[in-house]
Amino acid sequence: MGSSDTAEALEEVHSEIRRCRRCPLSRTRTKAVPGEGAPDASIMFVGEAPGGDEDQQGRPFVGAAGRLLTHLLKTIDLGRRAVFITNVVKCRPPGNRDPSPEEIDACNDHLLAQIALITPKVICTLGRFAAQTLIDKSLSISRQHGKPRRLSGILYVPLYHPAAALHQARLIDSLESDMRQLRDILAQELGTPNAEEKGDHA
Ligand code: URA
Repeated sequence: MGSSDTAEALEEVHSEIRRCRRCPLSRTRTKAVPGEGAPDASIMFVGEAPGGDEDQQGRPFVGAAGRLLTHLLKTIDLGRRAVFITNVVKCRPPGNRDPSPEEIDACNDHLLAQIALITPKVICTLGRFAAQTLIDKSLSISRQHGKPRRLSGILYVPLYHPAAALHQARLIDSLESDMRQLRDILAQELGTPNAEEKGDHA
């Protein structure tokens, strides 16, 4: 598929998400949050579910956790527009409660359709829900964060959720060191220059 065809097909999936009534979250949402970024991104970031700011704006990761995600991306020279950012569940669970297994199931086809169109080489999951949905339903994020796993040709990298790091300061160090490792993984997988090659180390 050419890149303009991919962009068009992805926009169609996003229109479906905005019309979706497959689960009760459609009754309480302000705006559905399909996701945003490059339709031909090599790297996807998949979070849990929209929060209050995302629900108001219809855009993923635009609140406090989003600001941390944007900062973490910058630390490895990635801009938000170079990647694709979305969530397992596209509508806000009331009061930011955890999404239920039924809500995750109801939304799964939307996420799979996005992955099939974008065809990323690397998917970074943010937090337990995304890791358990996309990698392994019994994955422990505290034991497996930063450990890549290849499934059906895609390299999955489980990361802590930035919101968790906002509440537990020690997780920031883990996230930052996993991001540094991600930079090396991307250099290997995508052939982008790593820090040494760019000569920007001390
Ligand atoms: N947390 C998420 O998992 N996703 C968002 O879009 C915002 C906060």
